[in-house]
Amino acid sequence: MSQEFTRRRFLATVAVAVPAGAVLMSATTATAADLPHLDVNDPSAKALGYVVDAKNVDRKSPLAARFADGQHCANCQVIQGKDGEAFRPCAIFPGKLVAAAGWCSAWAKKA
Ligand code: SF4
Repeated sequence: MSQEFTRRRFLATVAVAVPAGAVLMSATTATAADLPHLDVNDPSAKALGYVVDAKNVDRKSPLAARFADGQHCANCQVIQGKDGEAFRPCAIFPGKLVAAAGWCSAWAKKA
C-alpha cells in the first residue's frame, strides 16, 4: 500500500466520520427546549381547541364544554418536562411544546 493511498484513505475516513459524529452528537444533545412550539393553527391543535393562554378559551365552543377556571397545561395530567418552564412537551402533541399557561380539550386533572 503506497503512502499516498494511505493518506487518501485516512482523509476519506475523516471526511465521513466527522459529519457522522456531529450528527450523532447533535441528536444526543438535543433537548425538549429545541422542539418547536405548537401552533394554534396546527390541525391537531385546532381539533382540540388548543390555546396558548387558558384565559383565551372560547367558552362558547363545544370543545370548551368541560373547561373551568384554573385549568391550564401546567396542571394537566399529560404535561411533561419540568415545573416552571413556560413551554413543555405534552403527550397529546408529540414533538411540540405547549404553553404551561395553555389549554386544550384533552385537559385532565393532574393526579
Ligand atoms: S393535553 Fe393537557 S398539557 Fe397537553 S395541550 Fe392539552 S391541556 Fe395542555
